[in-house]
Amino acid sequence: MKEVHEYKDRSVLIHGKFKSEKWDFQDHITAPITTSVSFRLRTAERGSEGFQQFANPALDRATTHPIYIYERLDDPCQGLLEETLAFAEKGETAISFATGMAAISAVLGIHVQAGDHIVVNRTIYGCTFSLIVHWLTRFGVTHTFVDLARPEQLHEAIRPETRVVYFETPCNPTLELVDIRGVVAEVAVANQGRSEEDRIVTIVDNTFATPFCQRPLTMGVNYVVHSLTKNLGGFGTSMGGVVIGPRTRETDLLLFRKDFGGSLAPTKAWDILNYGVPTLALRLERQQQLARRVAEFLDLHPKVKLVRYPGLDSFPQSELAREQMRDIDGNFAPGSLLWFEMAGNAETSYGRAVRLINRVAERALSITLAVSLGNVRTLIEHPSSMTHSALPPEEQEKAGIAPGGIRLSLGIEDVSDILRDLEDALSHA
Ligand SMILES: *Cc1c(COP(=O)(O)O)cnc(C)c1O
Repeated sequence: MKEVHEYKDRSVLIHGKFKSEKWDFQDHITAPITTSVSFRLRTAERGSEGFQQFANPALDRATTHPIYIYERLDDPCQGLLEETLAFAEKGETAISFATGMAAISAVLGIHVQAGDHIVVNRTIYGCTFSLIVHWLTRFGVTHTFVDLARPEQLHEAIRPETRVVYFETPCNPTLELVDIRGVVAEVAVANQGRSEEDRIVTIVDNTFATPFCQRPLTMGVNYVVHSLTKNLGGFGTSMGGVVIGPRTRETDLLLFRKDFGGSLAPTKAWDILNYGVPTLALRLERQQQLARRVAEFLDLHPKVKLVRYPGLDSFPQSELAREQMRDIDGNFAPGSLLWFEMAGNAETSYGRAVRLINRVAERALSITLAVSLGNVRTLIEHPSSMTHSALPPEEQEKAGIAPGGIRLSLGIEDVSDILRDLEDALSHA
């Protein structure tokens, strides 16, 4: 049998690594769903060995035949999904979680303690904002929000007690990009002379791009996190999260998951492993085609003030997009999301956005008013009043979330239907 590295990523994402310690694939094509909470240990000695093996840094999880004990600790379906996701992101190890937020909590949780400081890009997912501002501060962890598009701000924000630089790119919901290599270079300078434990780590939430469009670990980032609930799951049927990073911190992530309890349900892991990941490339290619067409349409519409889609020539960071957003075959991959702002001042544009959304909700078959993203269905939402309403107005403004801004996550419908539904809603906005 050939080795995995001899195949294209596209094929491996469908078949998995097919030689896995997690499951005997001699007979199964698809791994069975595991629904056992605990596992038969056969002998006291084997039970004892299982406990010694769990999260043992001396063992390589990828090559050690696992002794499963209890579902919250480790499970075959979780493990198979983790192997495939580590491969997709080109990381050393992946640890799955119950949700994207559980994964983000874990990667921050293993890197900070009271007295530490985090530098965060000013535009981030609403719950990540809330986690950092409302909860981590209670545990004595401080933060500074910066505009990572301006490297001097990062330089100024880093303190001796800074341990993490955290960002998304493209950002939610404005699709502004962060120069991944630029941040990595700046952090490398700040890390000069720091001891191993004082080092600043970089964490990228790669949910918007997915590993199909962008692989930040290959650009020097330390960790990638994902909400698997979005395009990696792909069908909007399963919640999940993952942290992909260095093998040296695998033990901490496993112990954090064990003790905080955010383990991914194996039935959900199975779903994402068998439906989401194998169809990722297919869906993303189709979604990107639609996103480009819709972006071009909106760009010319008189009721639309501006469109932000990394694939448009008018995109302010078009050059950066072409540099860092590349699909698994090396082609430019601007993704499946777009952001547009209705024309008018703050008040009138807000009113227009609400009218457009309500018309869509009432009339459109091909576009659904719903939060979440990365679904086979096209989803629309109004961040200012919905997903990002936890941010006070002045924070929204700083983050570029205009009152008349709308986020569109393209699905795989017929593009002419989406354009017709949008045209109808725009004419009533
Ligand atoms: C949805 C999302 C999350 C949170 O993921 P959940 O699975 O809902 O917990 C984090 N970051 C981004 C960018 C997201 O879109």
